[in-house]
Amino acid sequence: MTLIQITTTILICWIIFIISWERLSPYRKGLPFFREGFWVDLVWYTIIQSYVLKIVIFDCIIYPLQHHIGWHGLQFFKELPVALQVLFFLVTHDLYIYFFHRLQHANKILWRTHETHHSGKEVDFLAGSRSHAMEIIINQTIEFAPIVLLGADPAVIPIKALLDAMFGMFIHANINIKLGKLKYILNSPELHLWHHANYREVFHANFSTKFAVWDYLFGTIYNPGFKPGNEPGNWGLYYDYPKDYFLQHAFSLKRFDERKLLKHKWFRFYYNIRPSLMKLVLGLFGKQKSRPARRHCAPPEPVETYHTLNT
Ligand SMILES: [Zn+2]
Ligand SMILES: [Zn+2]
Repeated sequence: MTLIQITTTILICWIIFIISWERLSPYRKGLPFFREGFWVDLVWYTIIQSYVLKIVIFDCIIYPLQHHIGWHGLQFFKELPVALQVLFFLVTHDLYIYFFHRLQHANKILWRTHETHHSGKEVDFLAGSRSHAMEIIINQTIEFAPIVLLGADPAVIPIKALLDAMFGMFIHANINIKLGKLKYILNSPELHLWHHANYREVFHANFSTKFAVWDYLFGTIYNPGFKPGNEPGNWGLYYDYPKDYFLQHAFSLKRFDERKLLKHKWFRFYYNIRPSLMKLVLGLFGKQKSRPARRHCAPPEPVETYHTLNT
């Protein structure tokens, strides 16, 4: 069995485990499996974007960069056990991600590369995959370039990628879990689901990805001991955000009002392709009665404001 086959098998088992856990012990009760944005997250972000950006990051950036500088790593680094190499990159990249994430929340331009990740109002194991393409290019180049350039064992890349995927699913999973004393070290849904809540108190808190220790260390922890609530207004962004993958990326470059764009025939046609296809597919499987397709040309809900626990 090759390493890729092993990591793929572990990942599949982990997905089944997390999905079962969500059903058995949900953080928010009643969250449907096929929740709002499920197909966009699965098809566009998890499958298509991941596949395309892996080629962009490795074949168009990291390997040409390695070829250009003609450097093949540090000998002492190559002699370290693979487990230590993985641990080194886990900790250093997680510390970088903490500060970059914090910067993304503080800087208006960088926020445009991160708001996509916060746009979902129903957060579950798949929600972590929703990240702007530019955010992925920046973070994964900074994550994987040192692994290649320092001459780490080739096994470090698939192992690190597996841990990223497993942690990403875990911290976004809709599961009720308390880590006890481990919460000071490891991140969990208890902390990260609050990071996705629409409350002023968490706009600049809980930035950690894998190790919660950074939030405790740098004073950005927020854990009030209760949950944000189940209303859509309790979650995601406090302003309207497009639901379509391409519109989400366009929105980061230029703000627009979907209601005004819907006046154009070409836009209405584009905007209704996906719901129409979904309706067709669900119709073929006879499931149209179980969850009616949401009409995208319906007027968007009113702009929401953020919540604050003090008022
Ligand atoms: Zn964030
Ligand atoms: Zn998140």
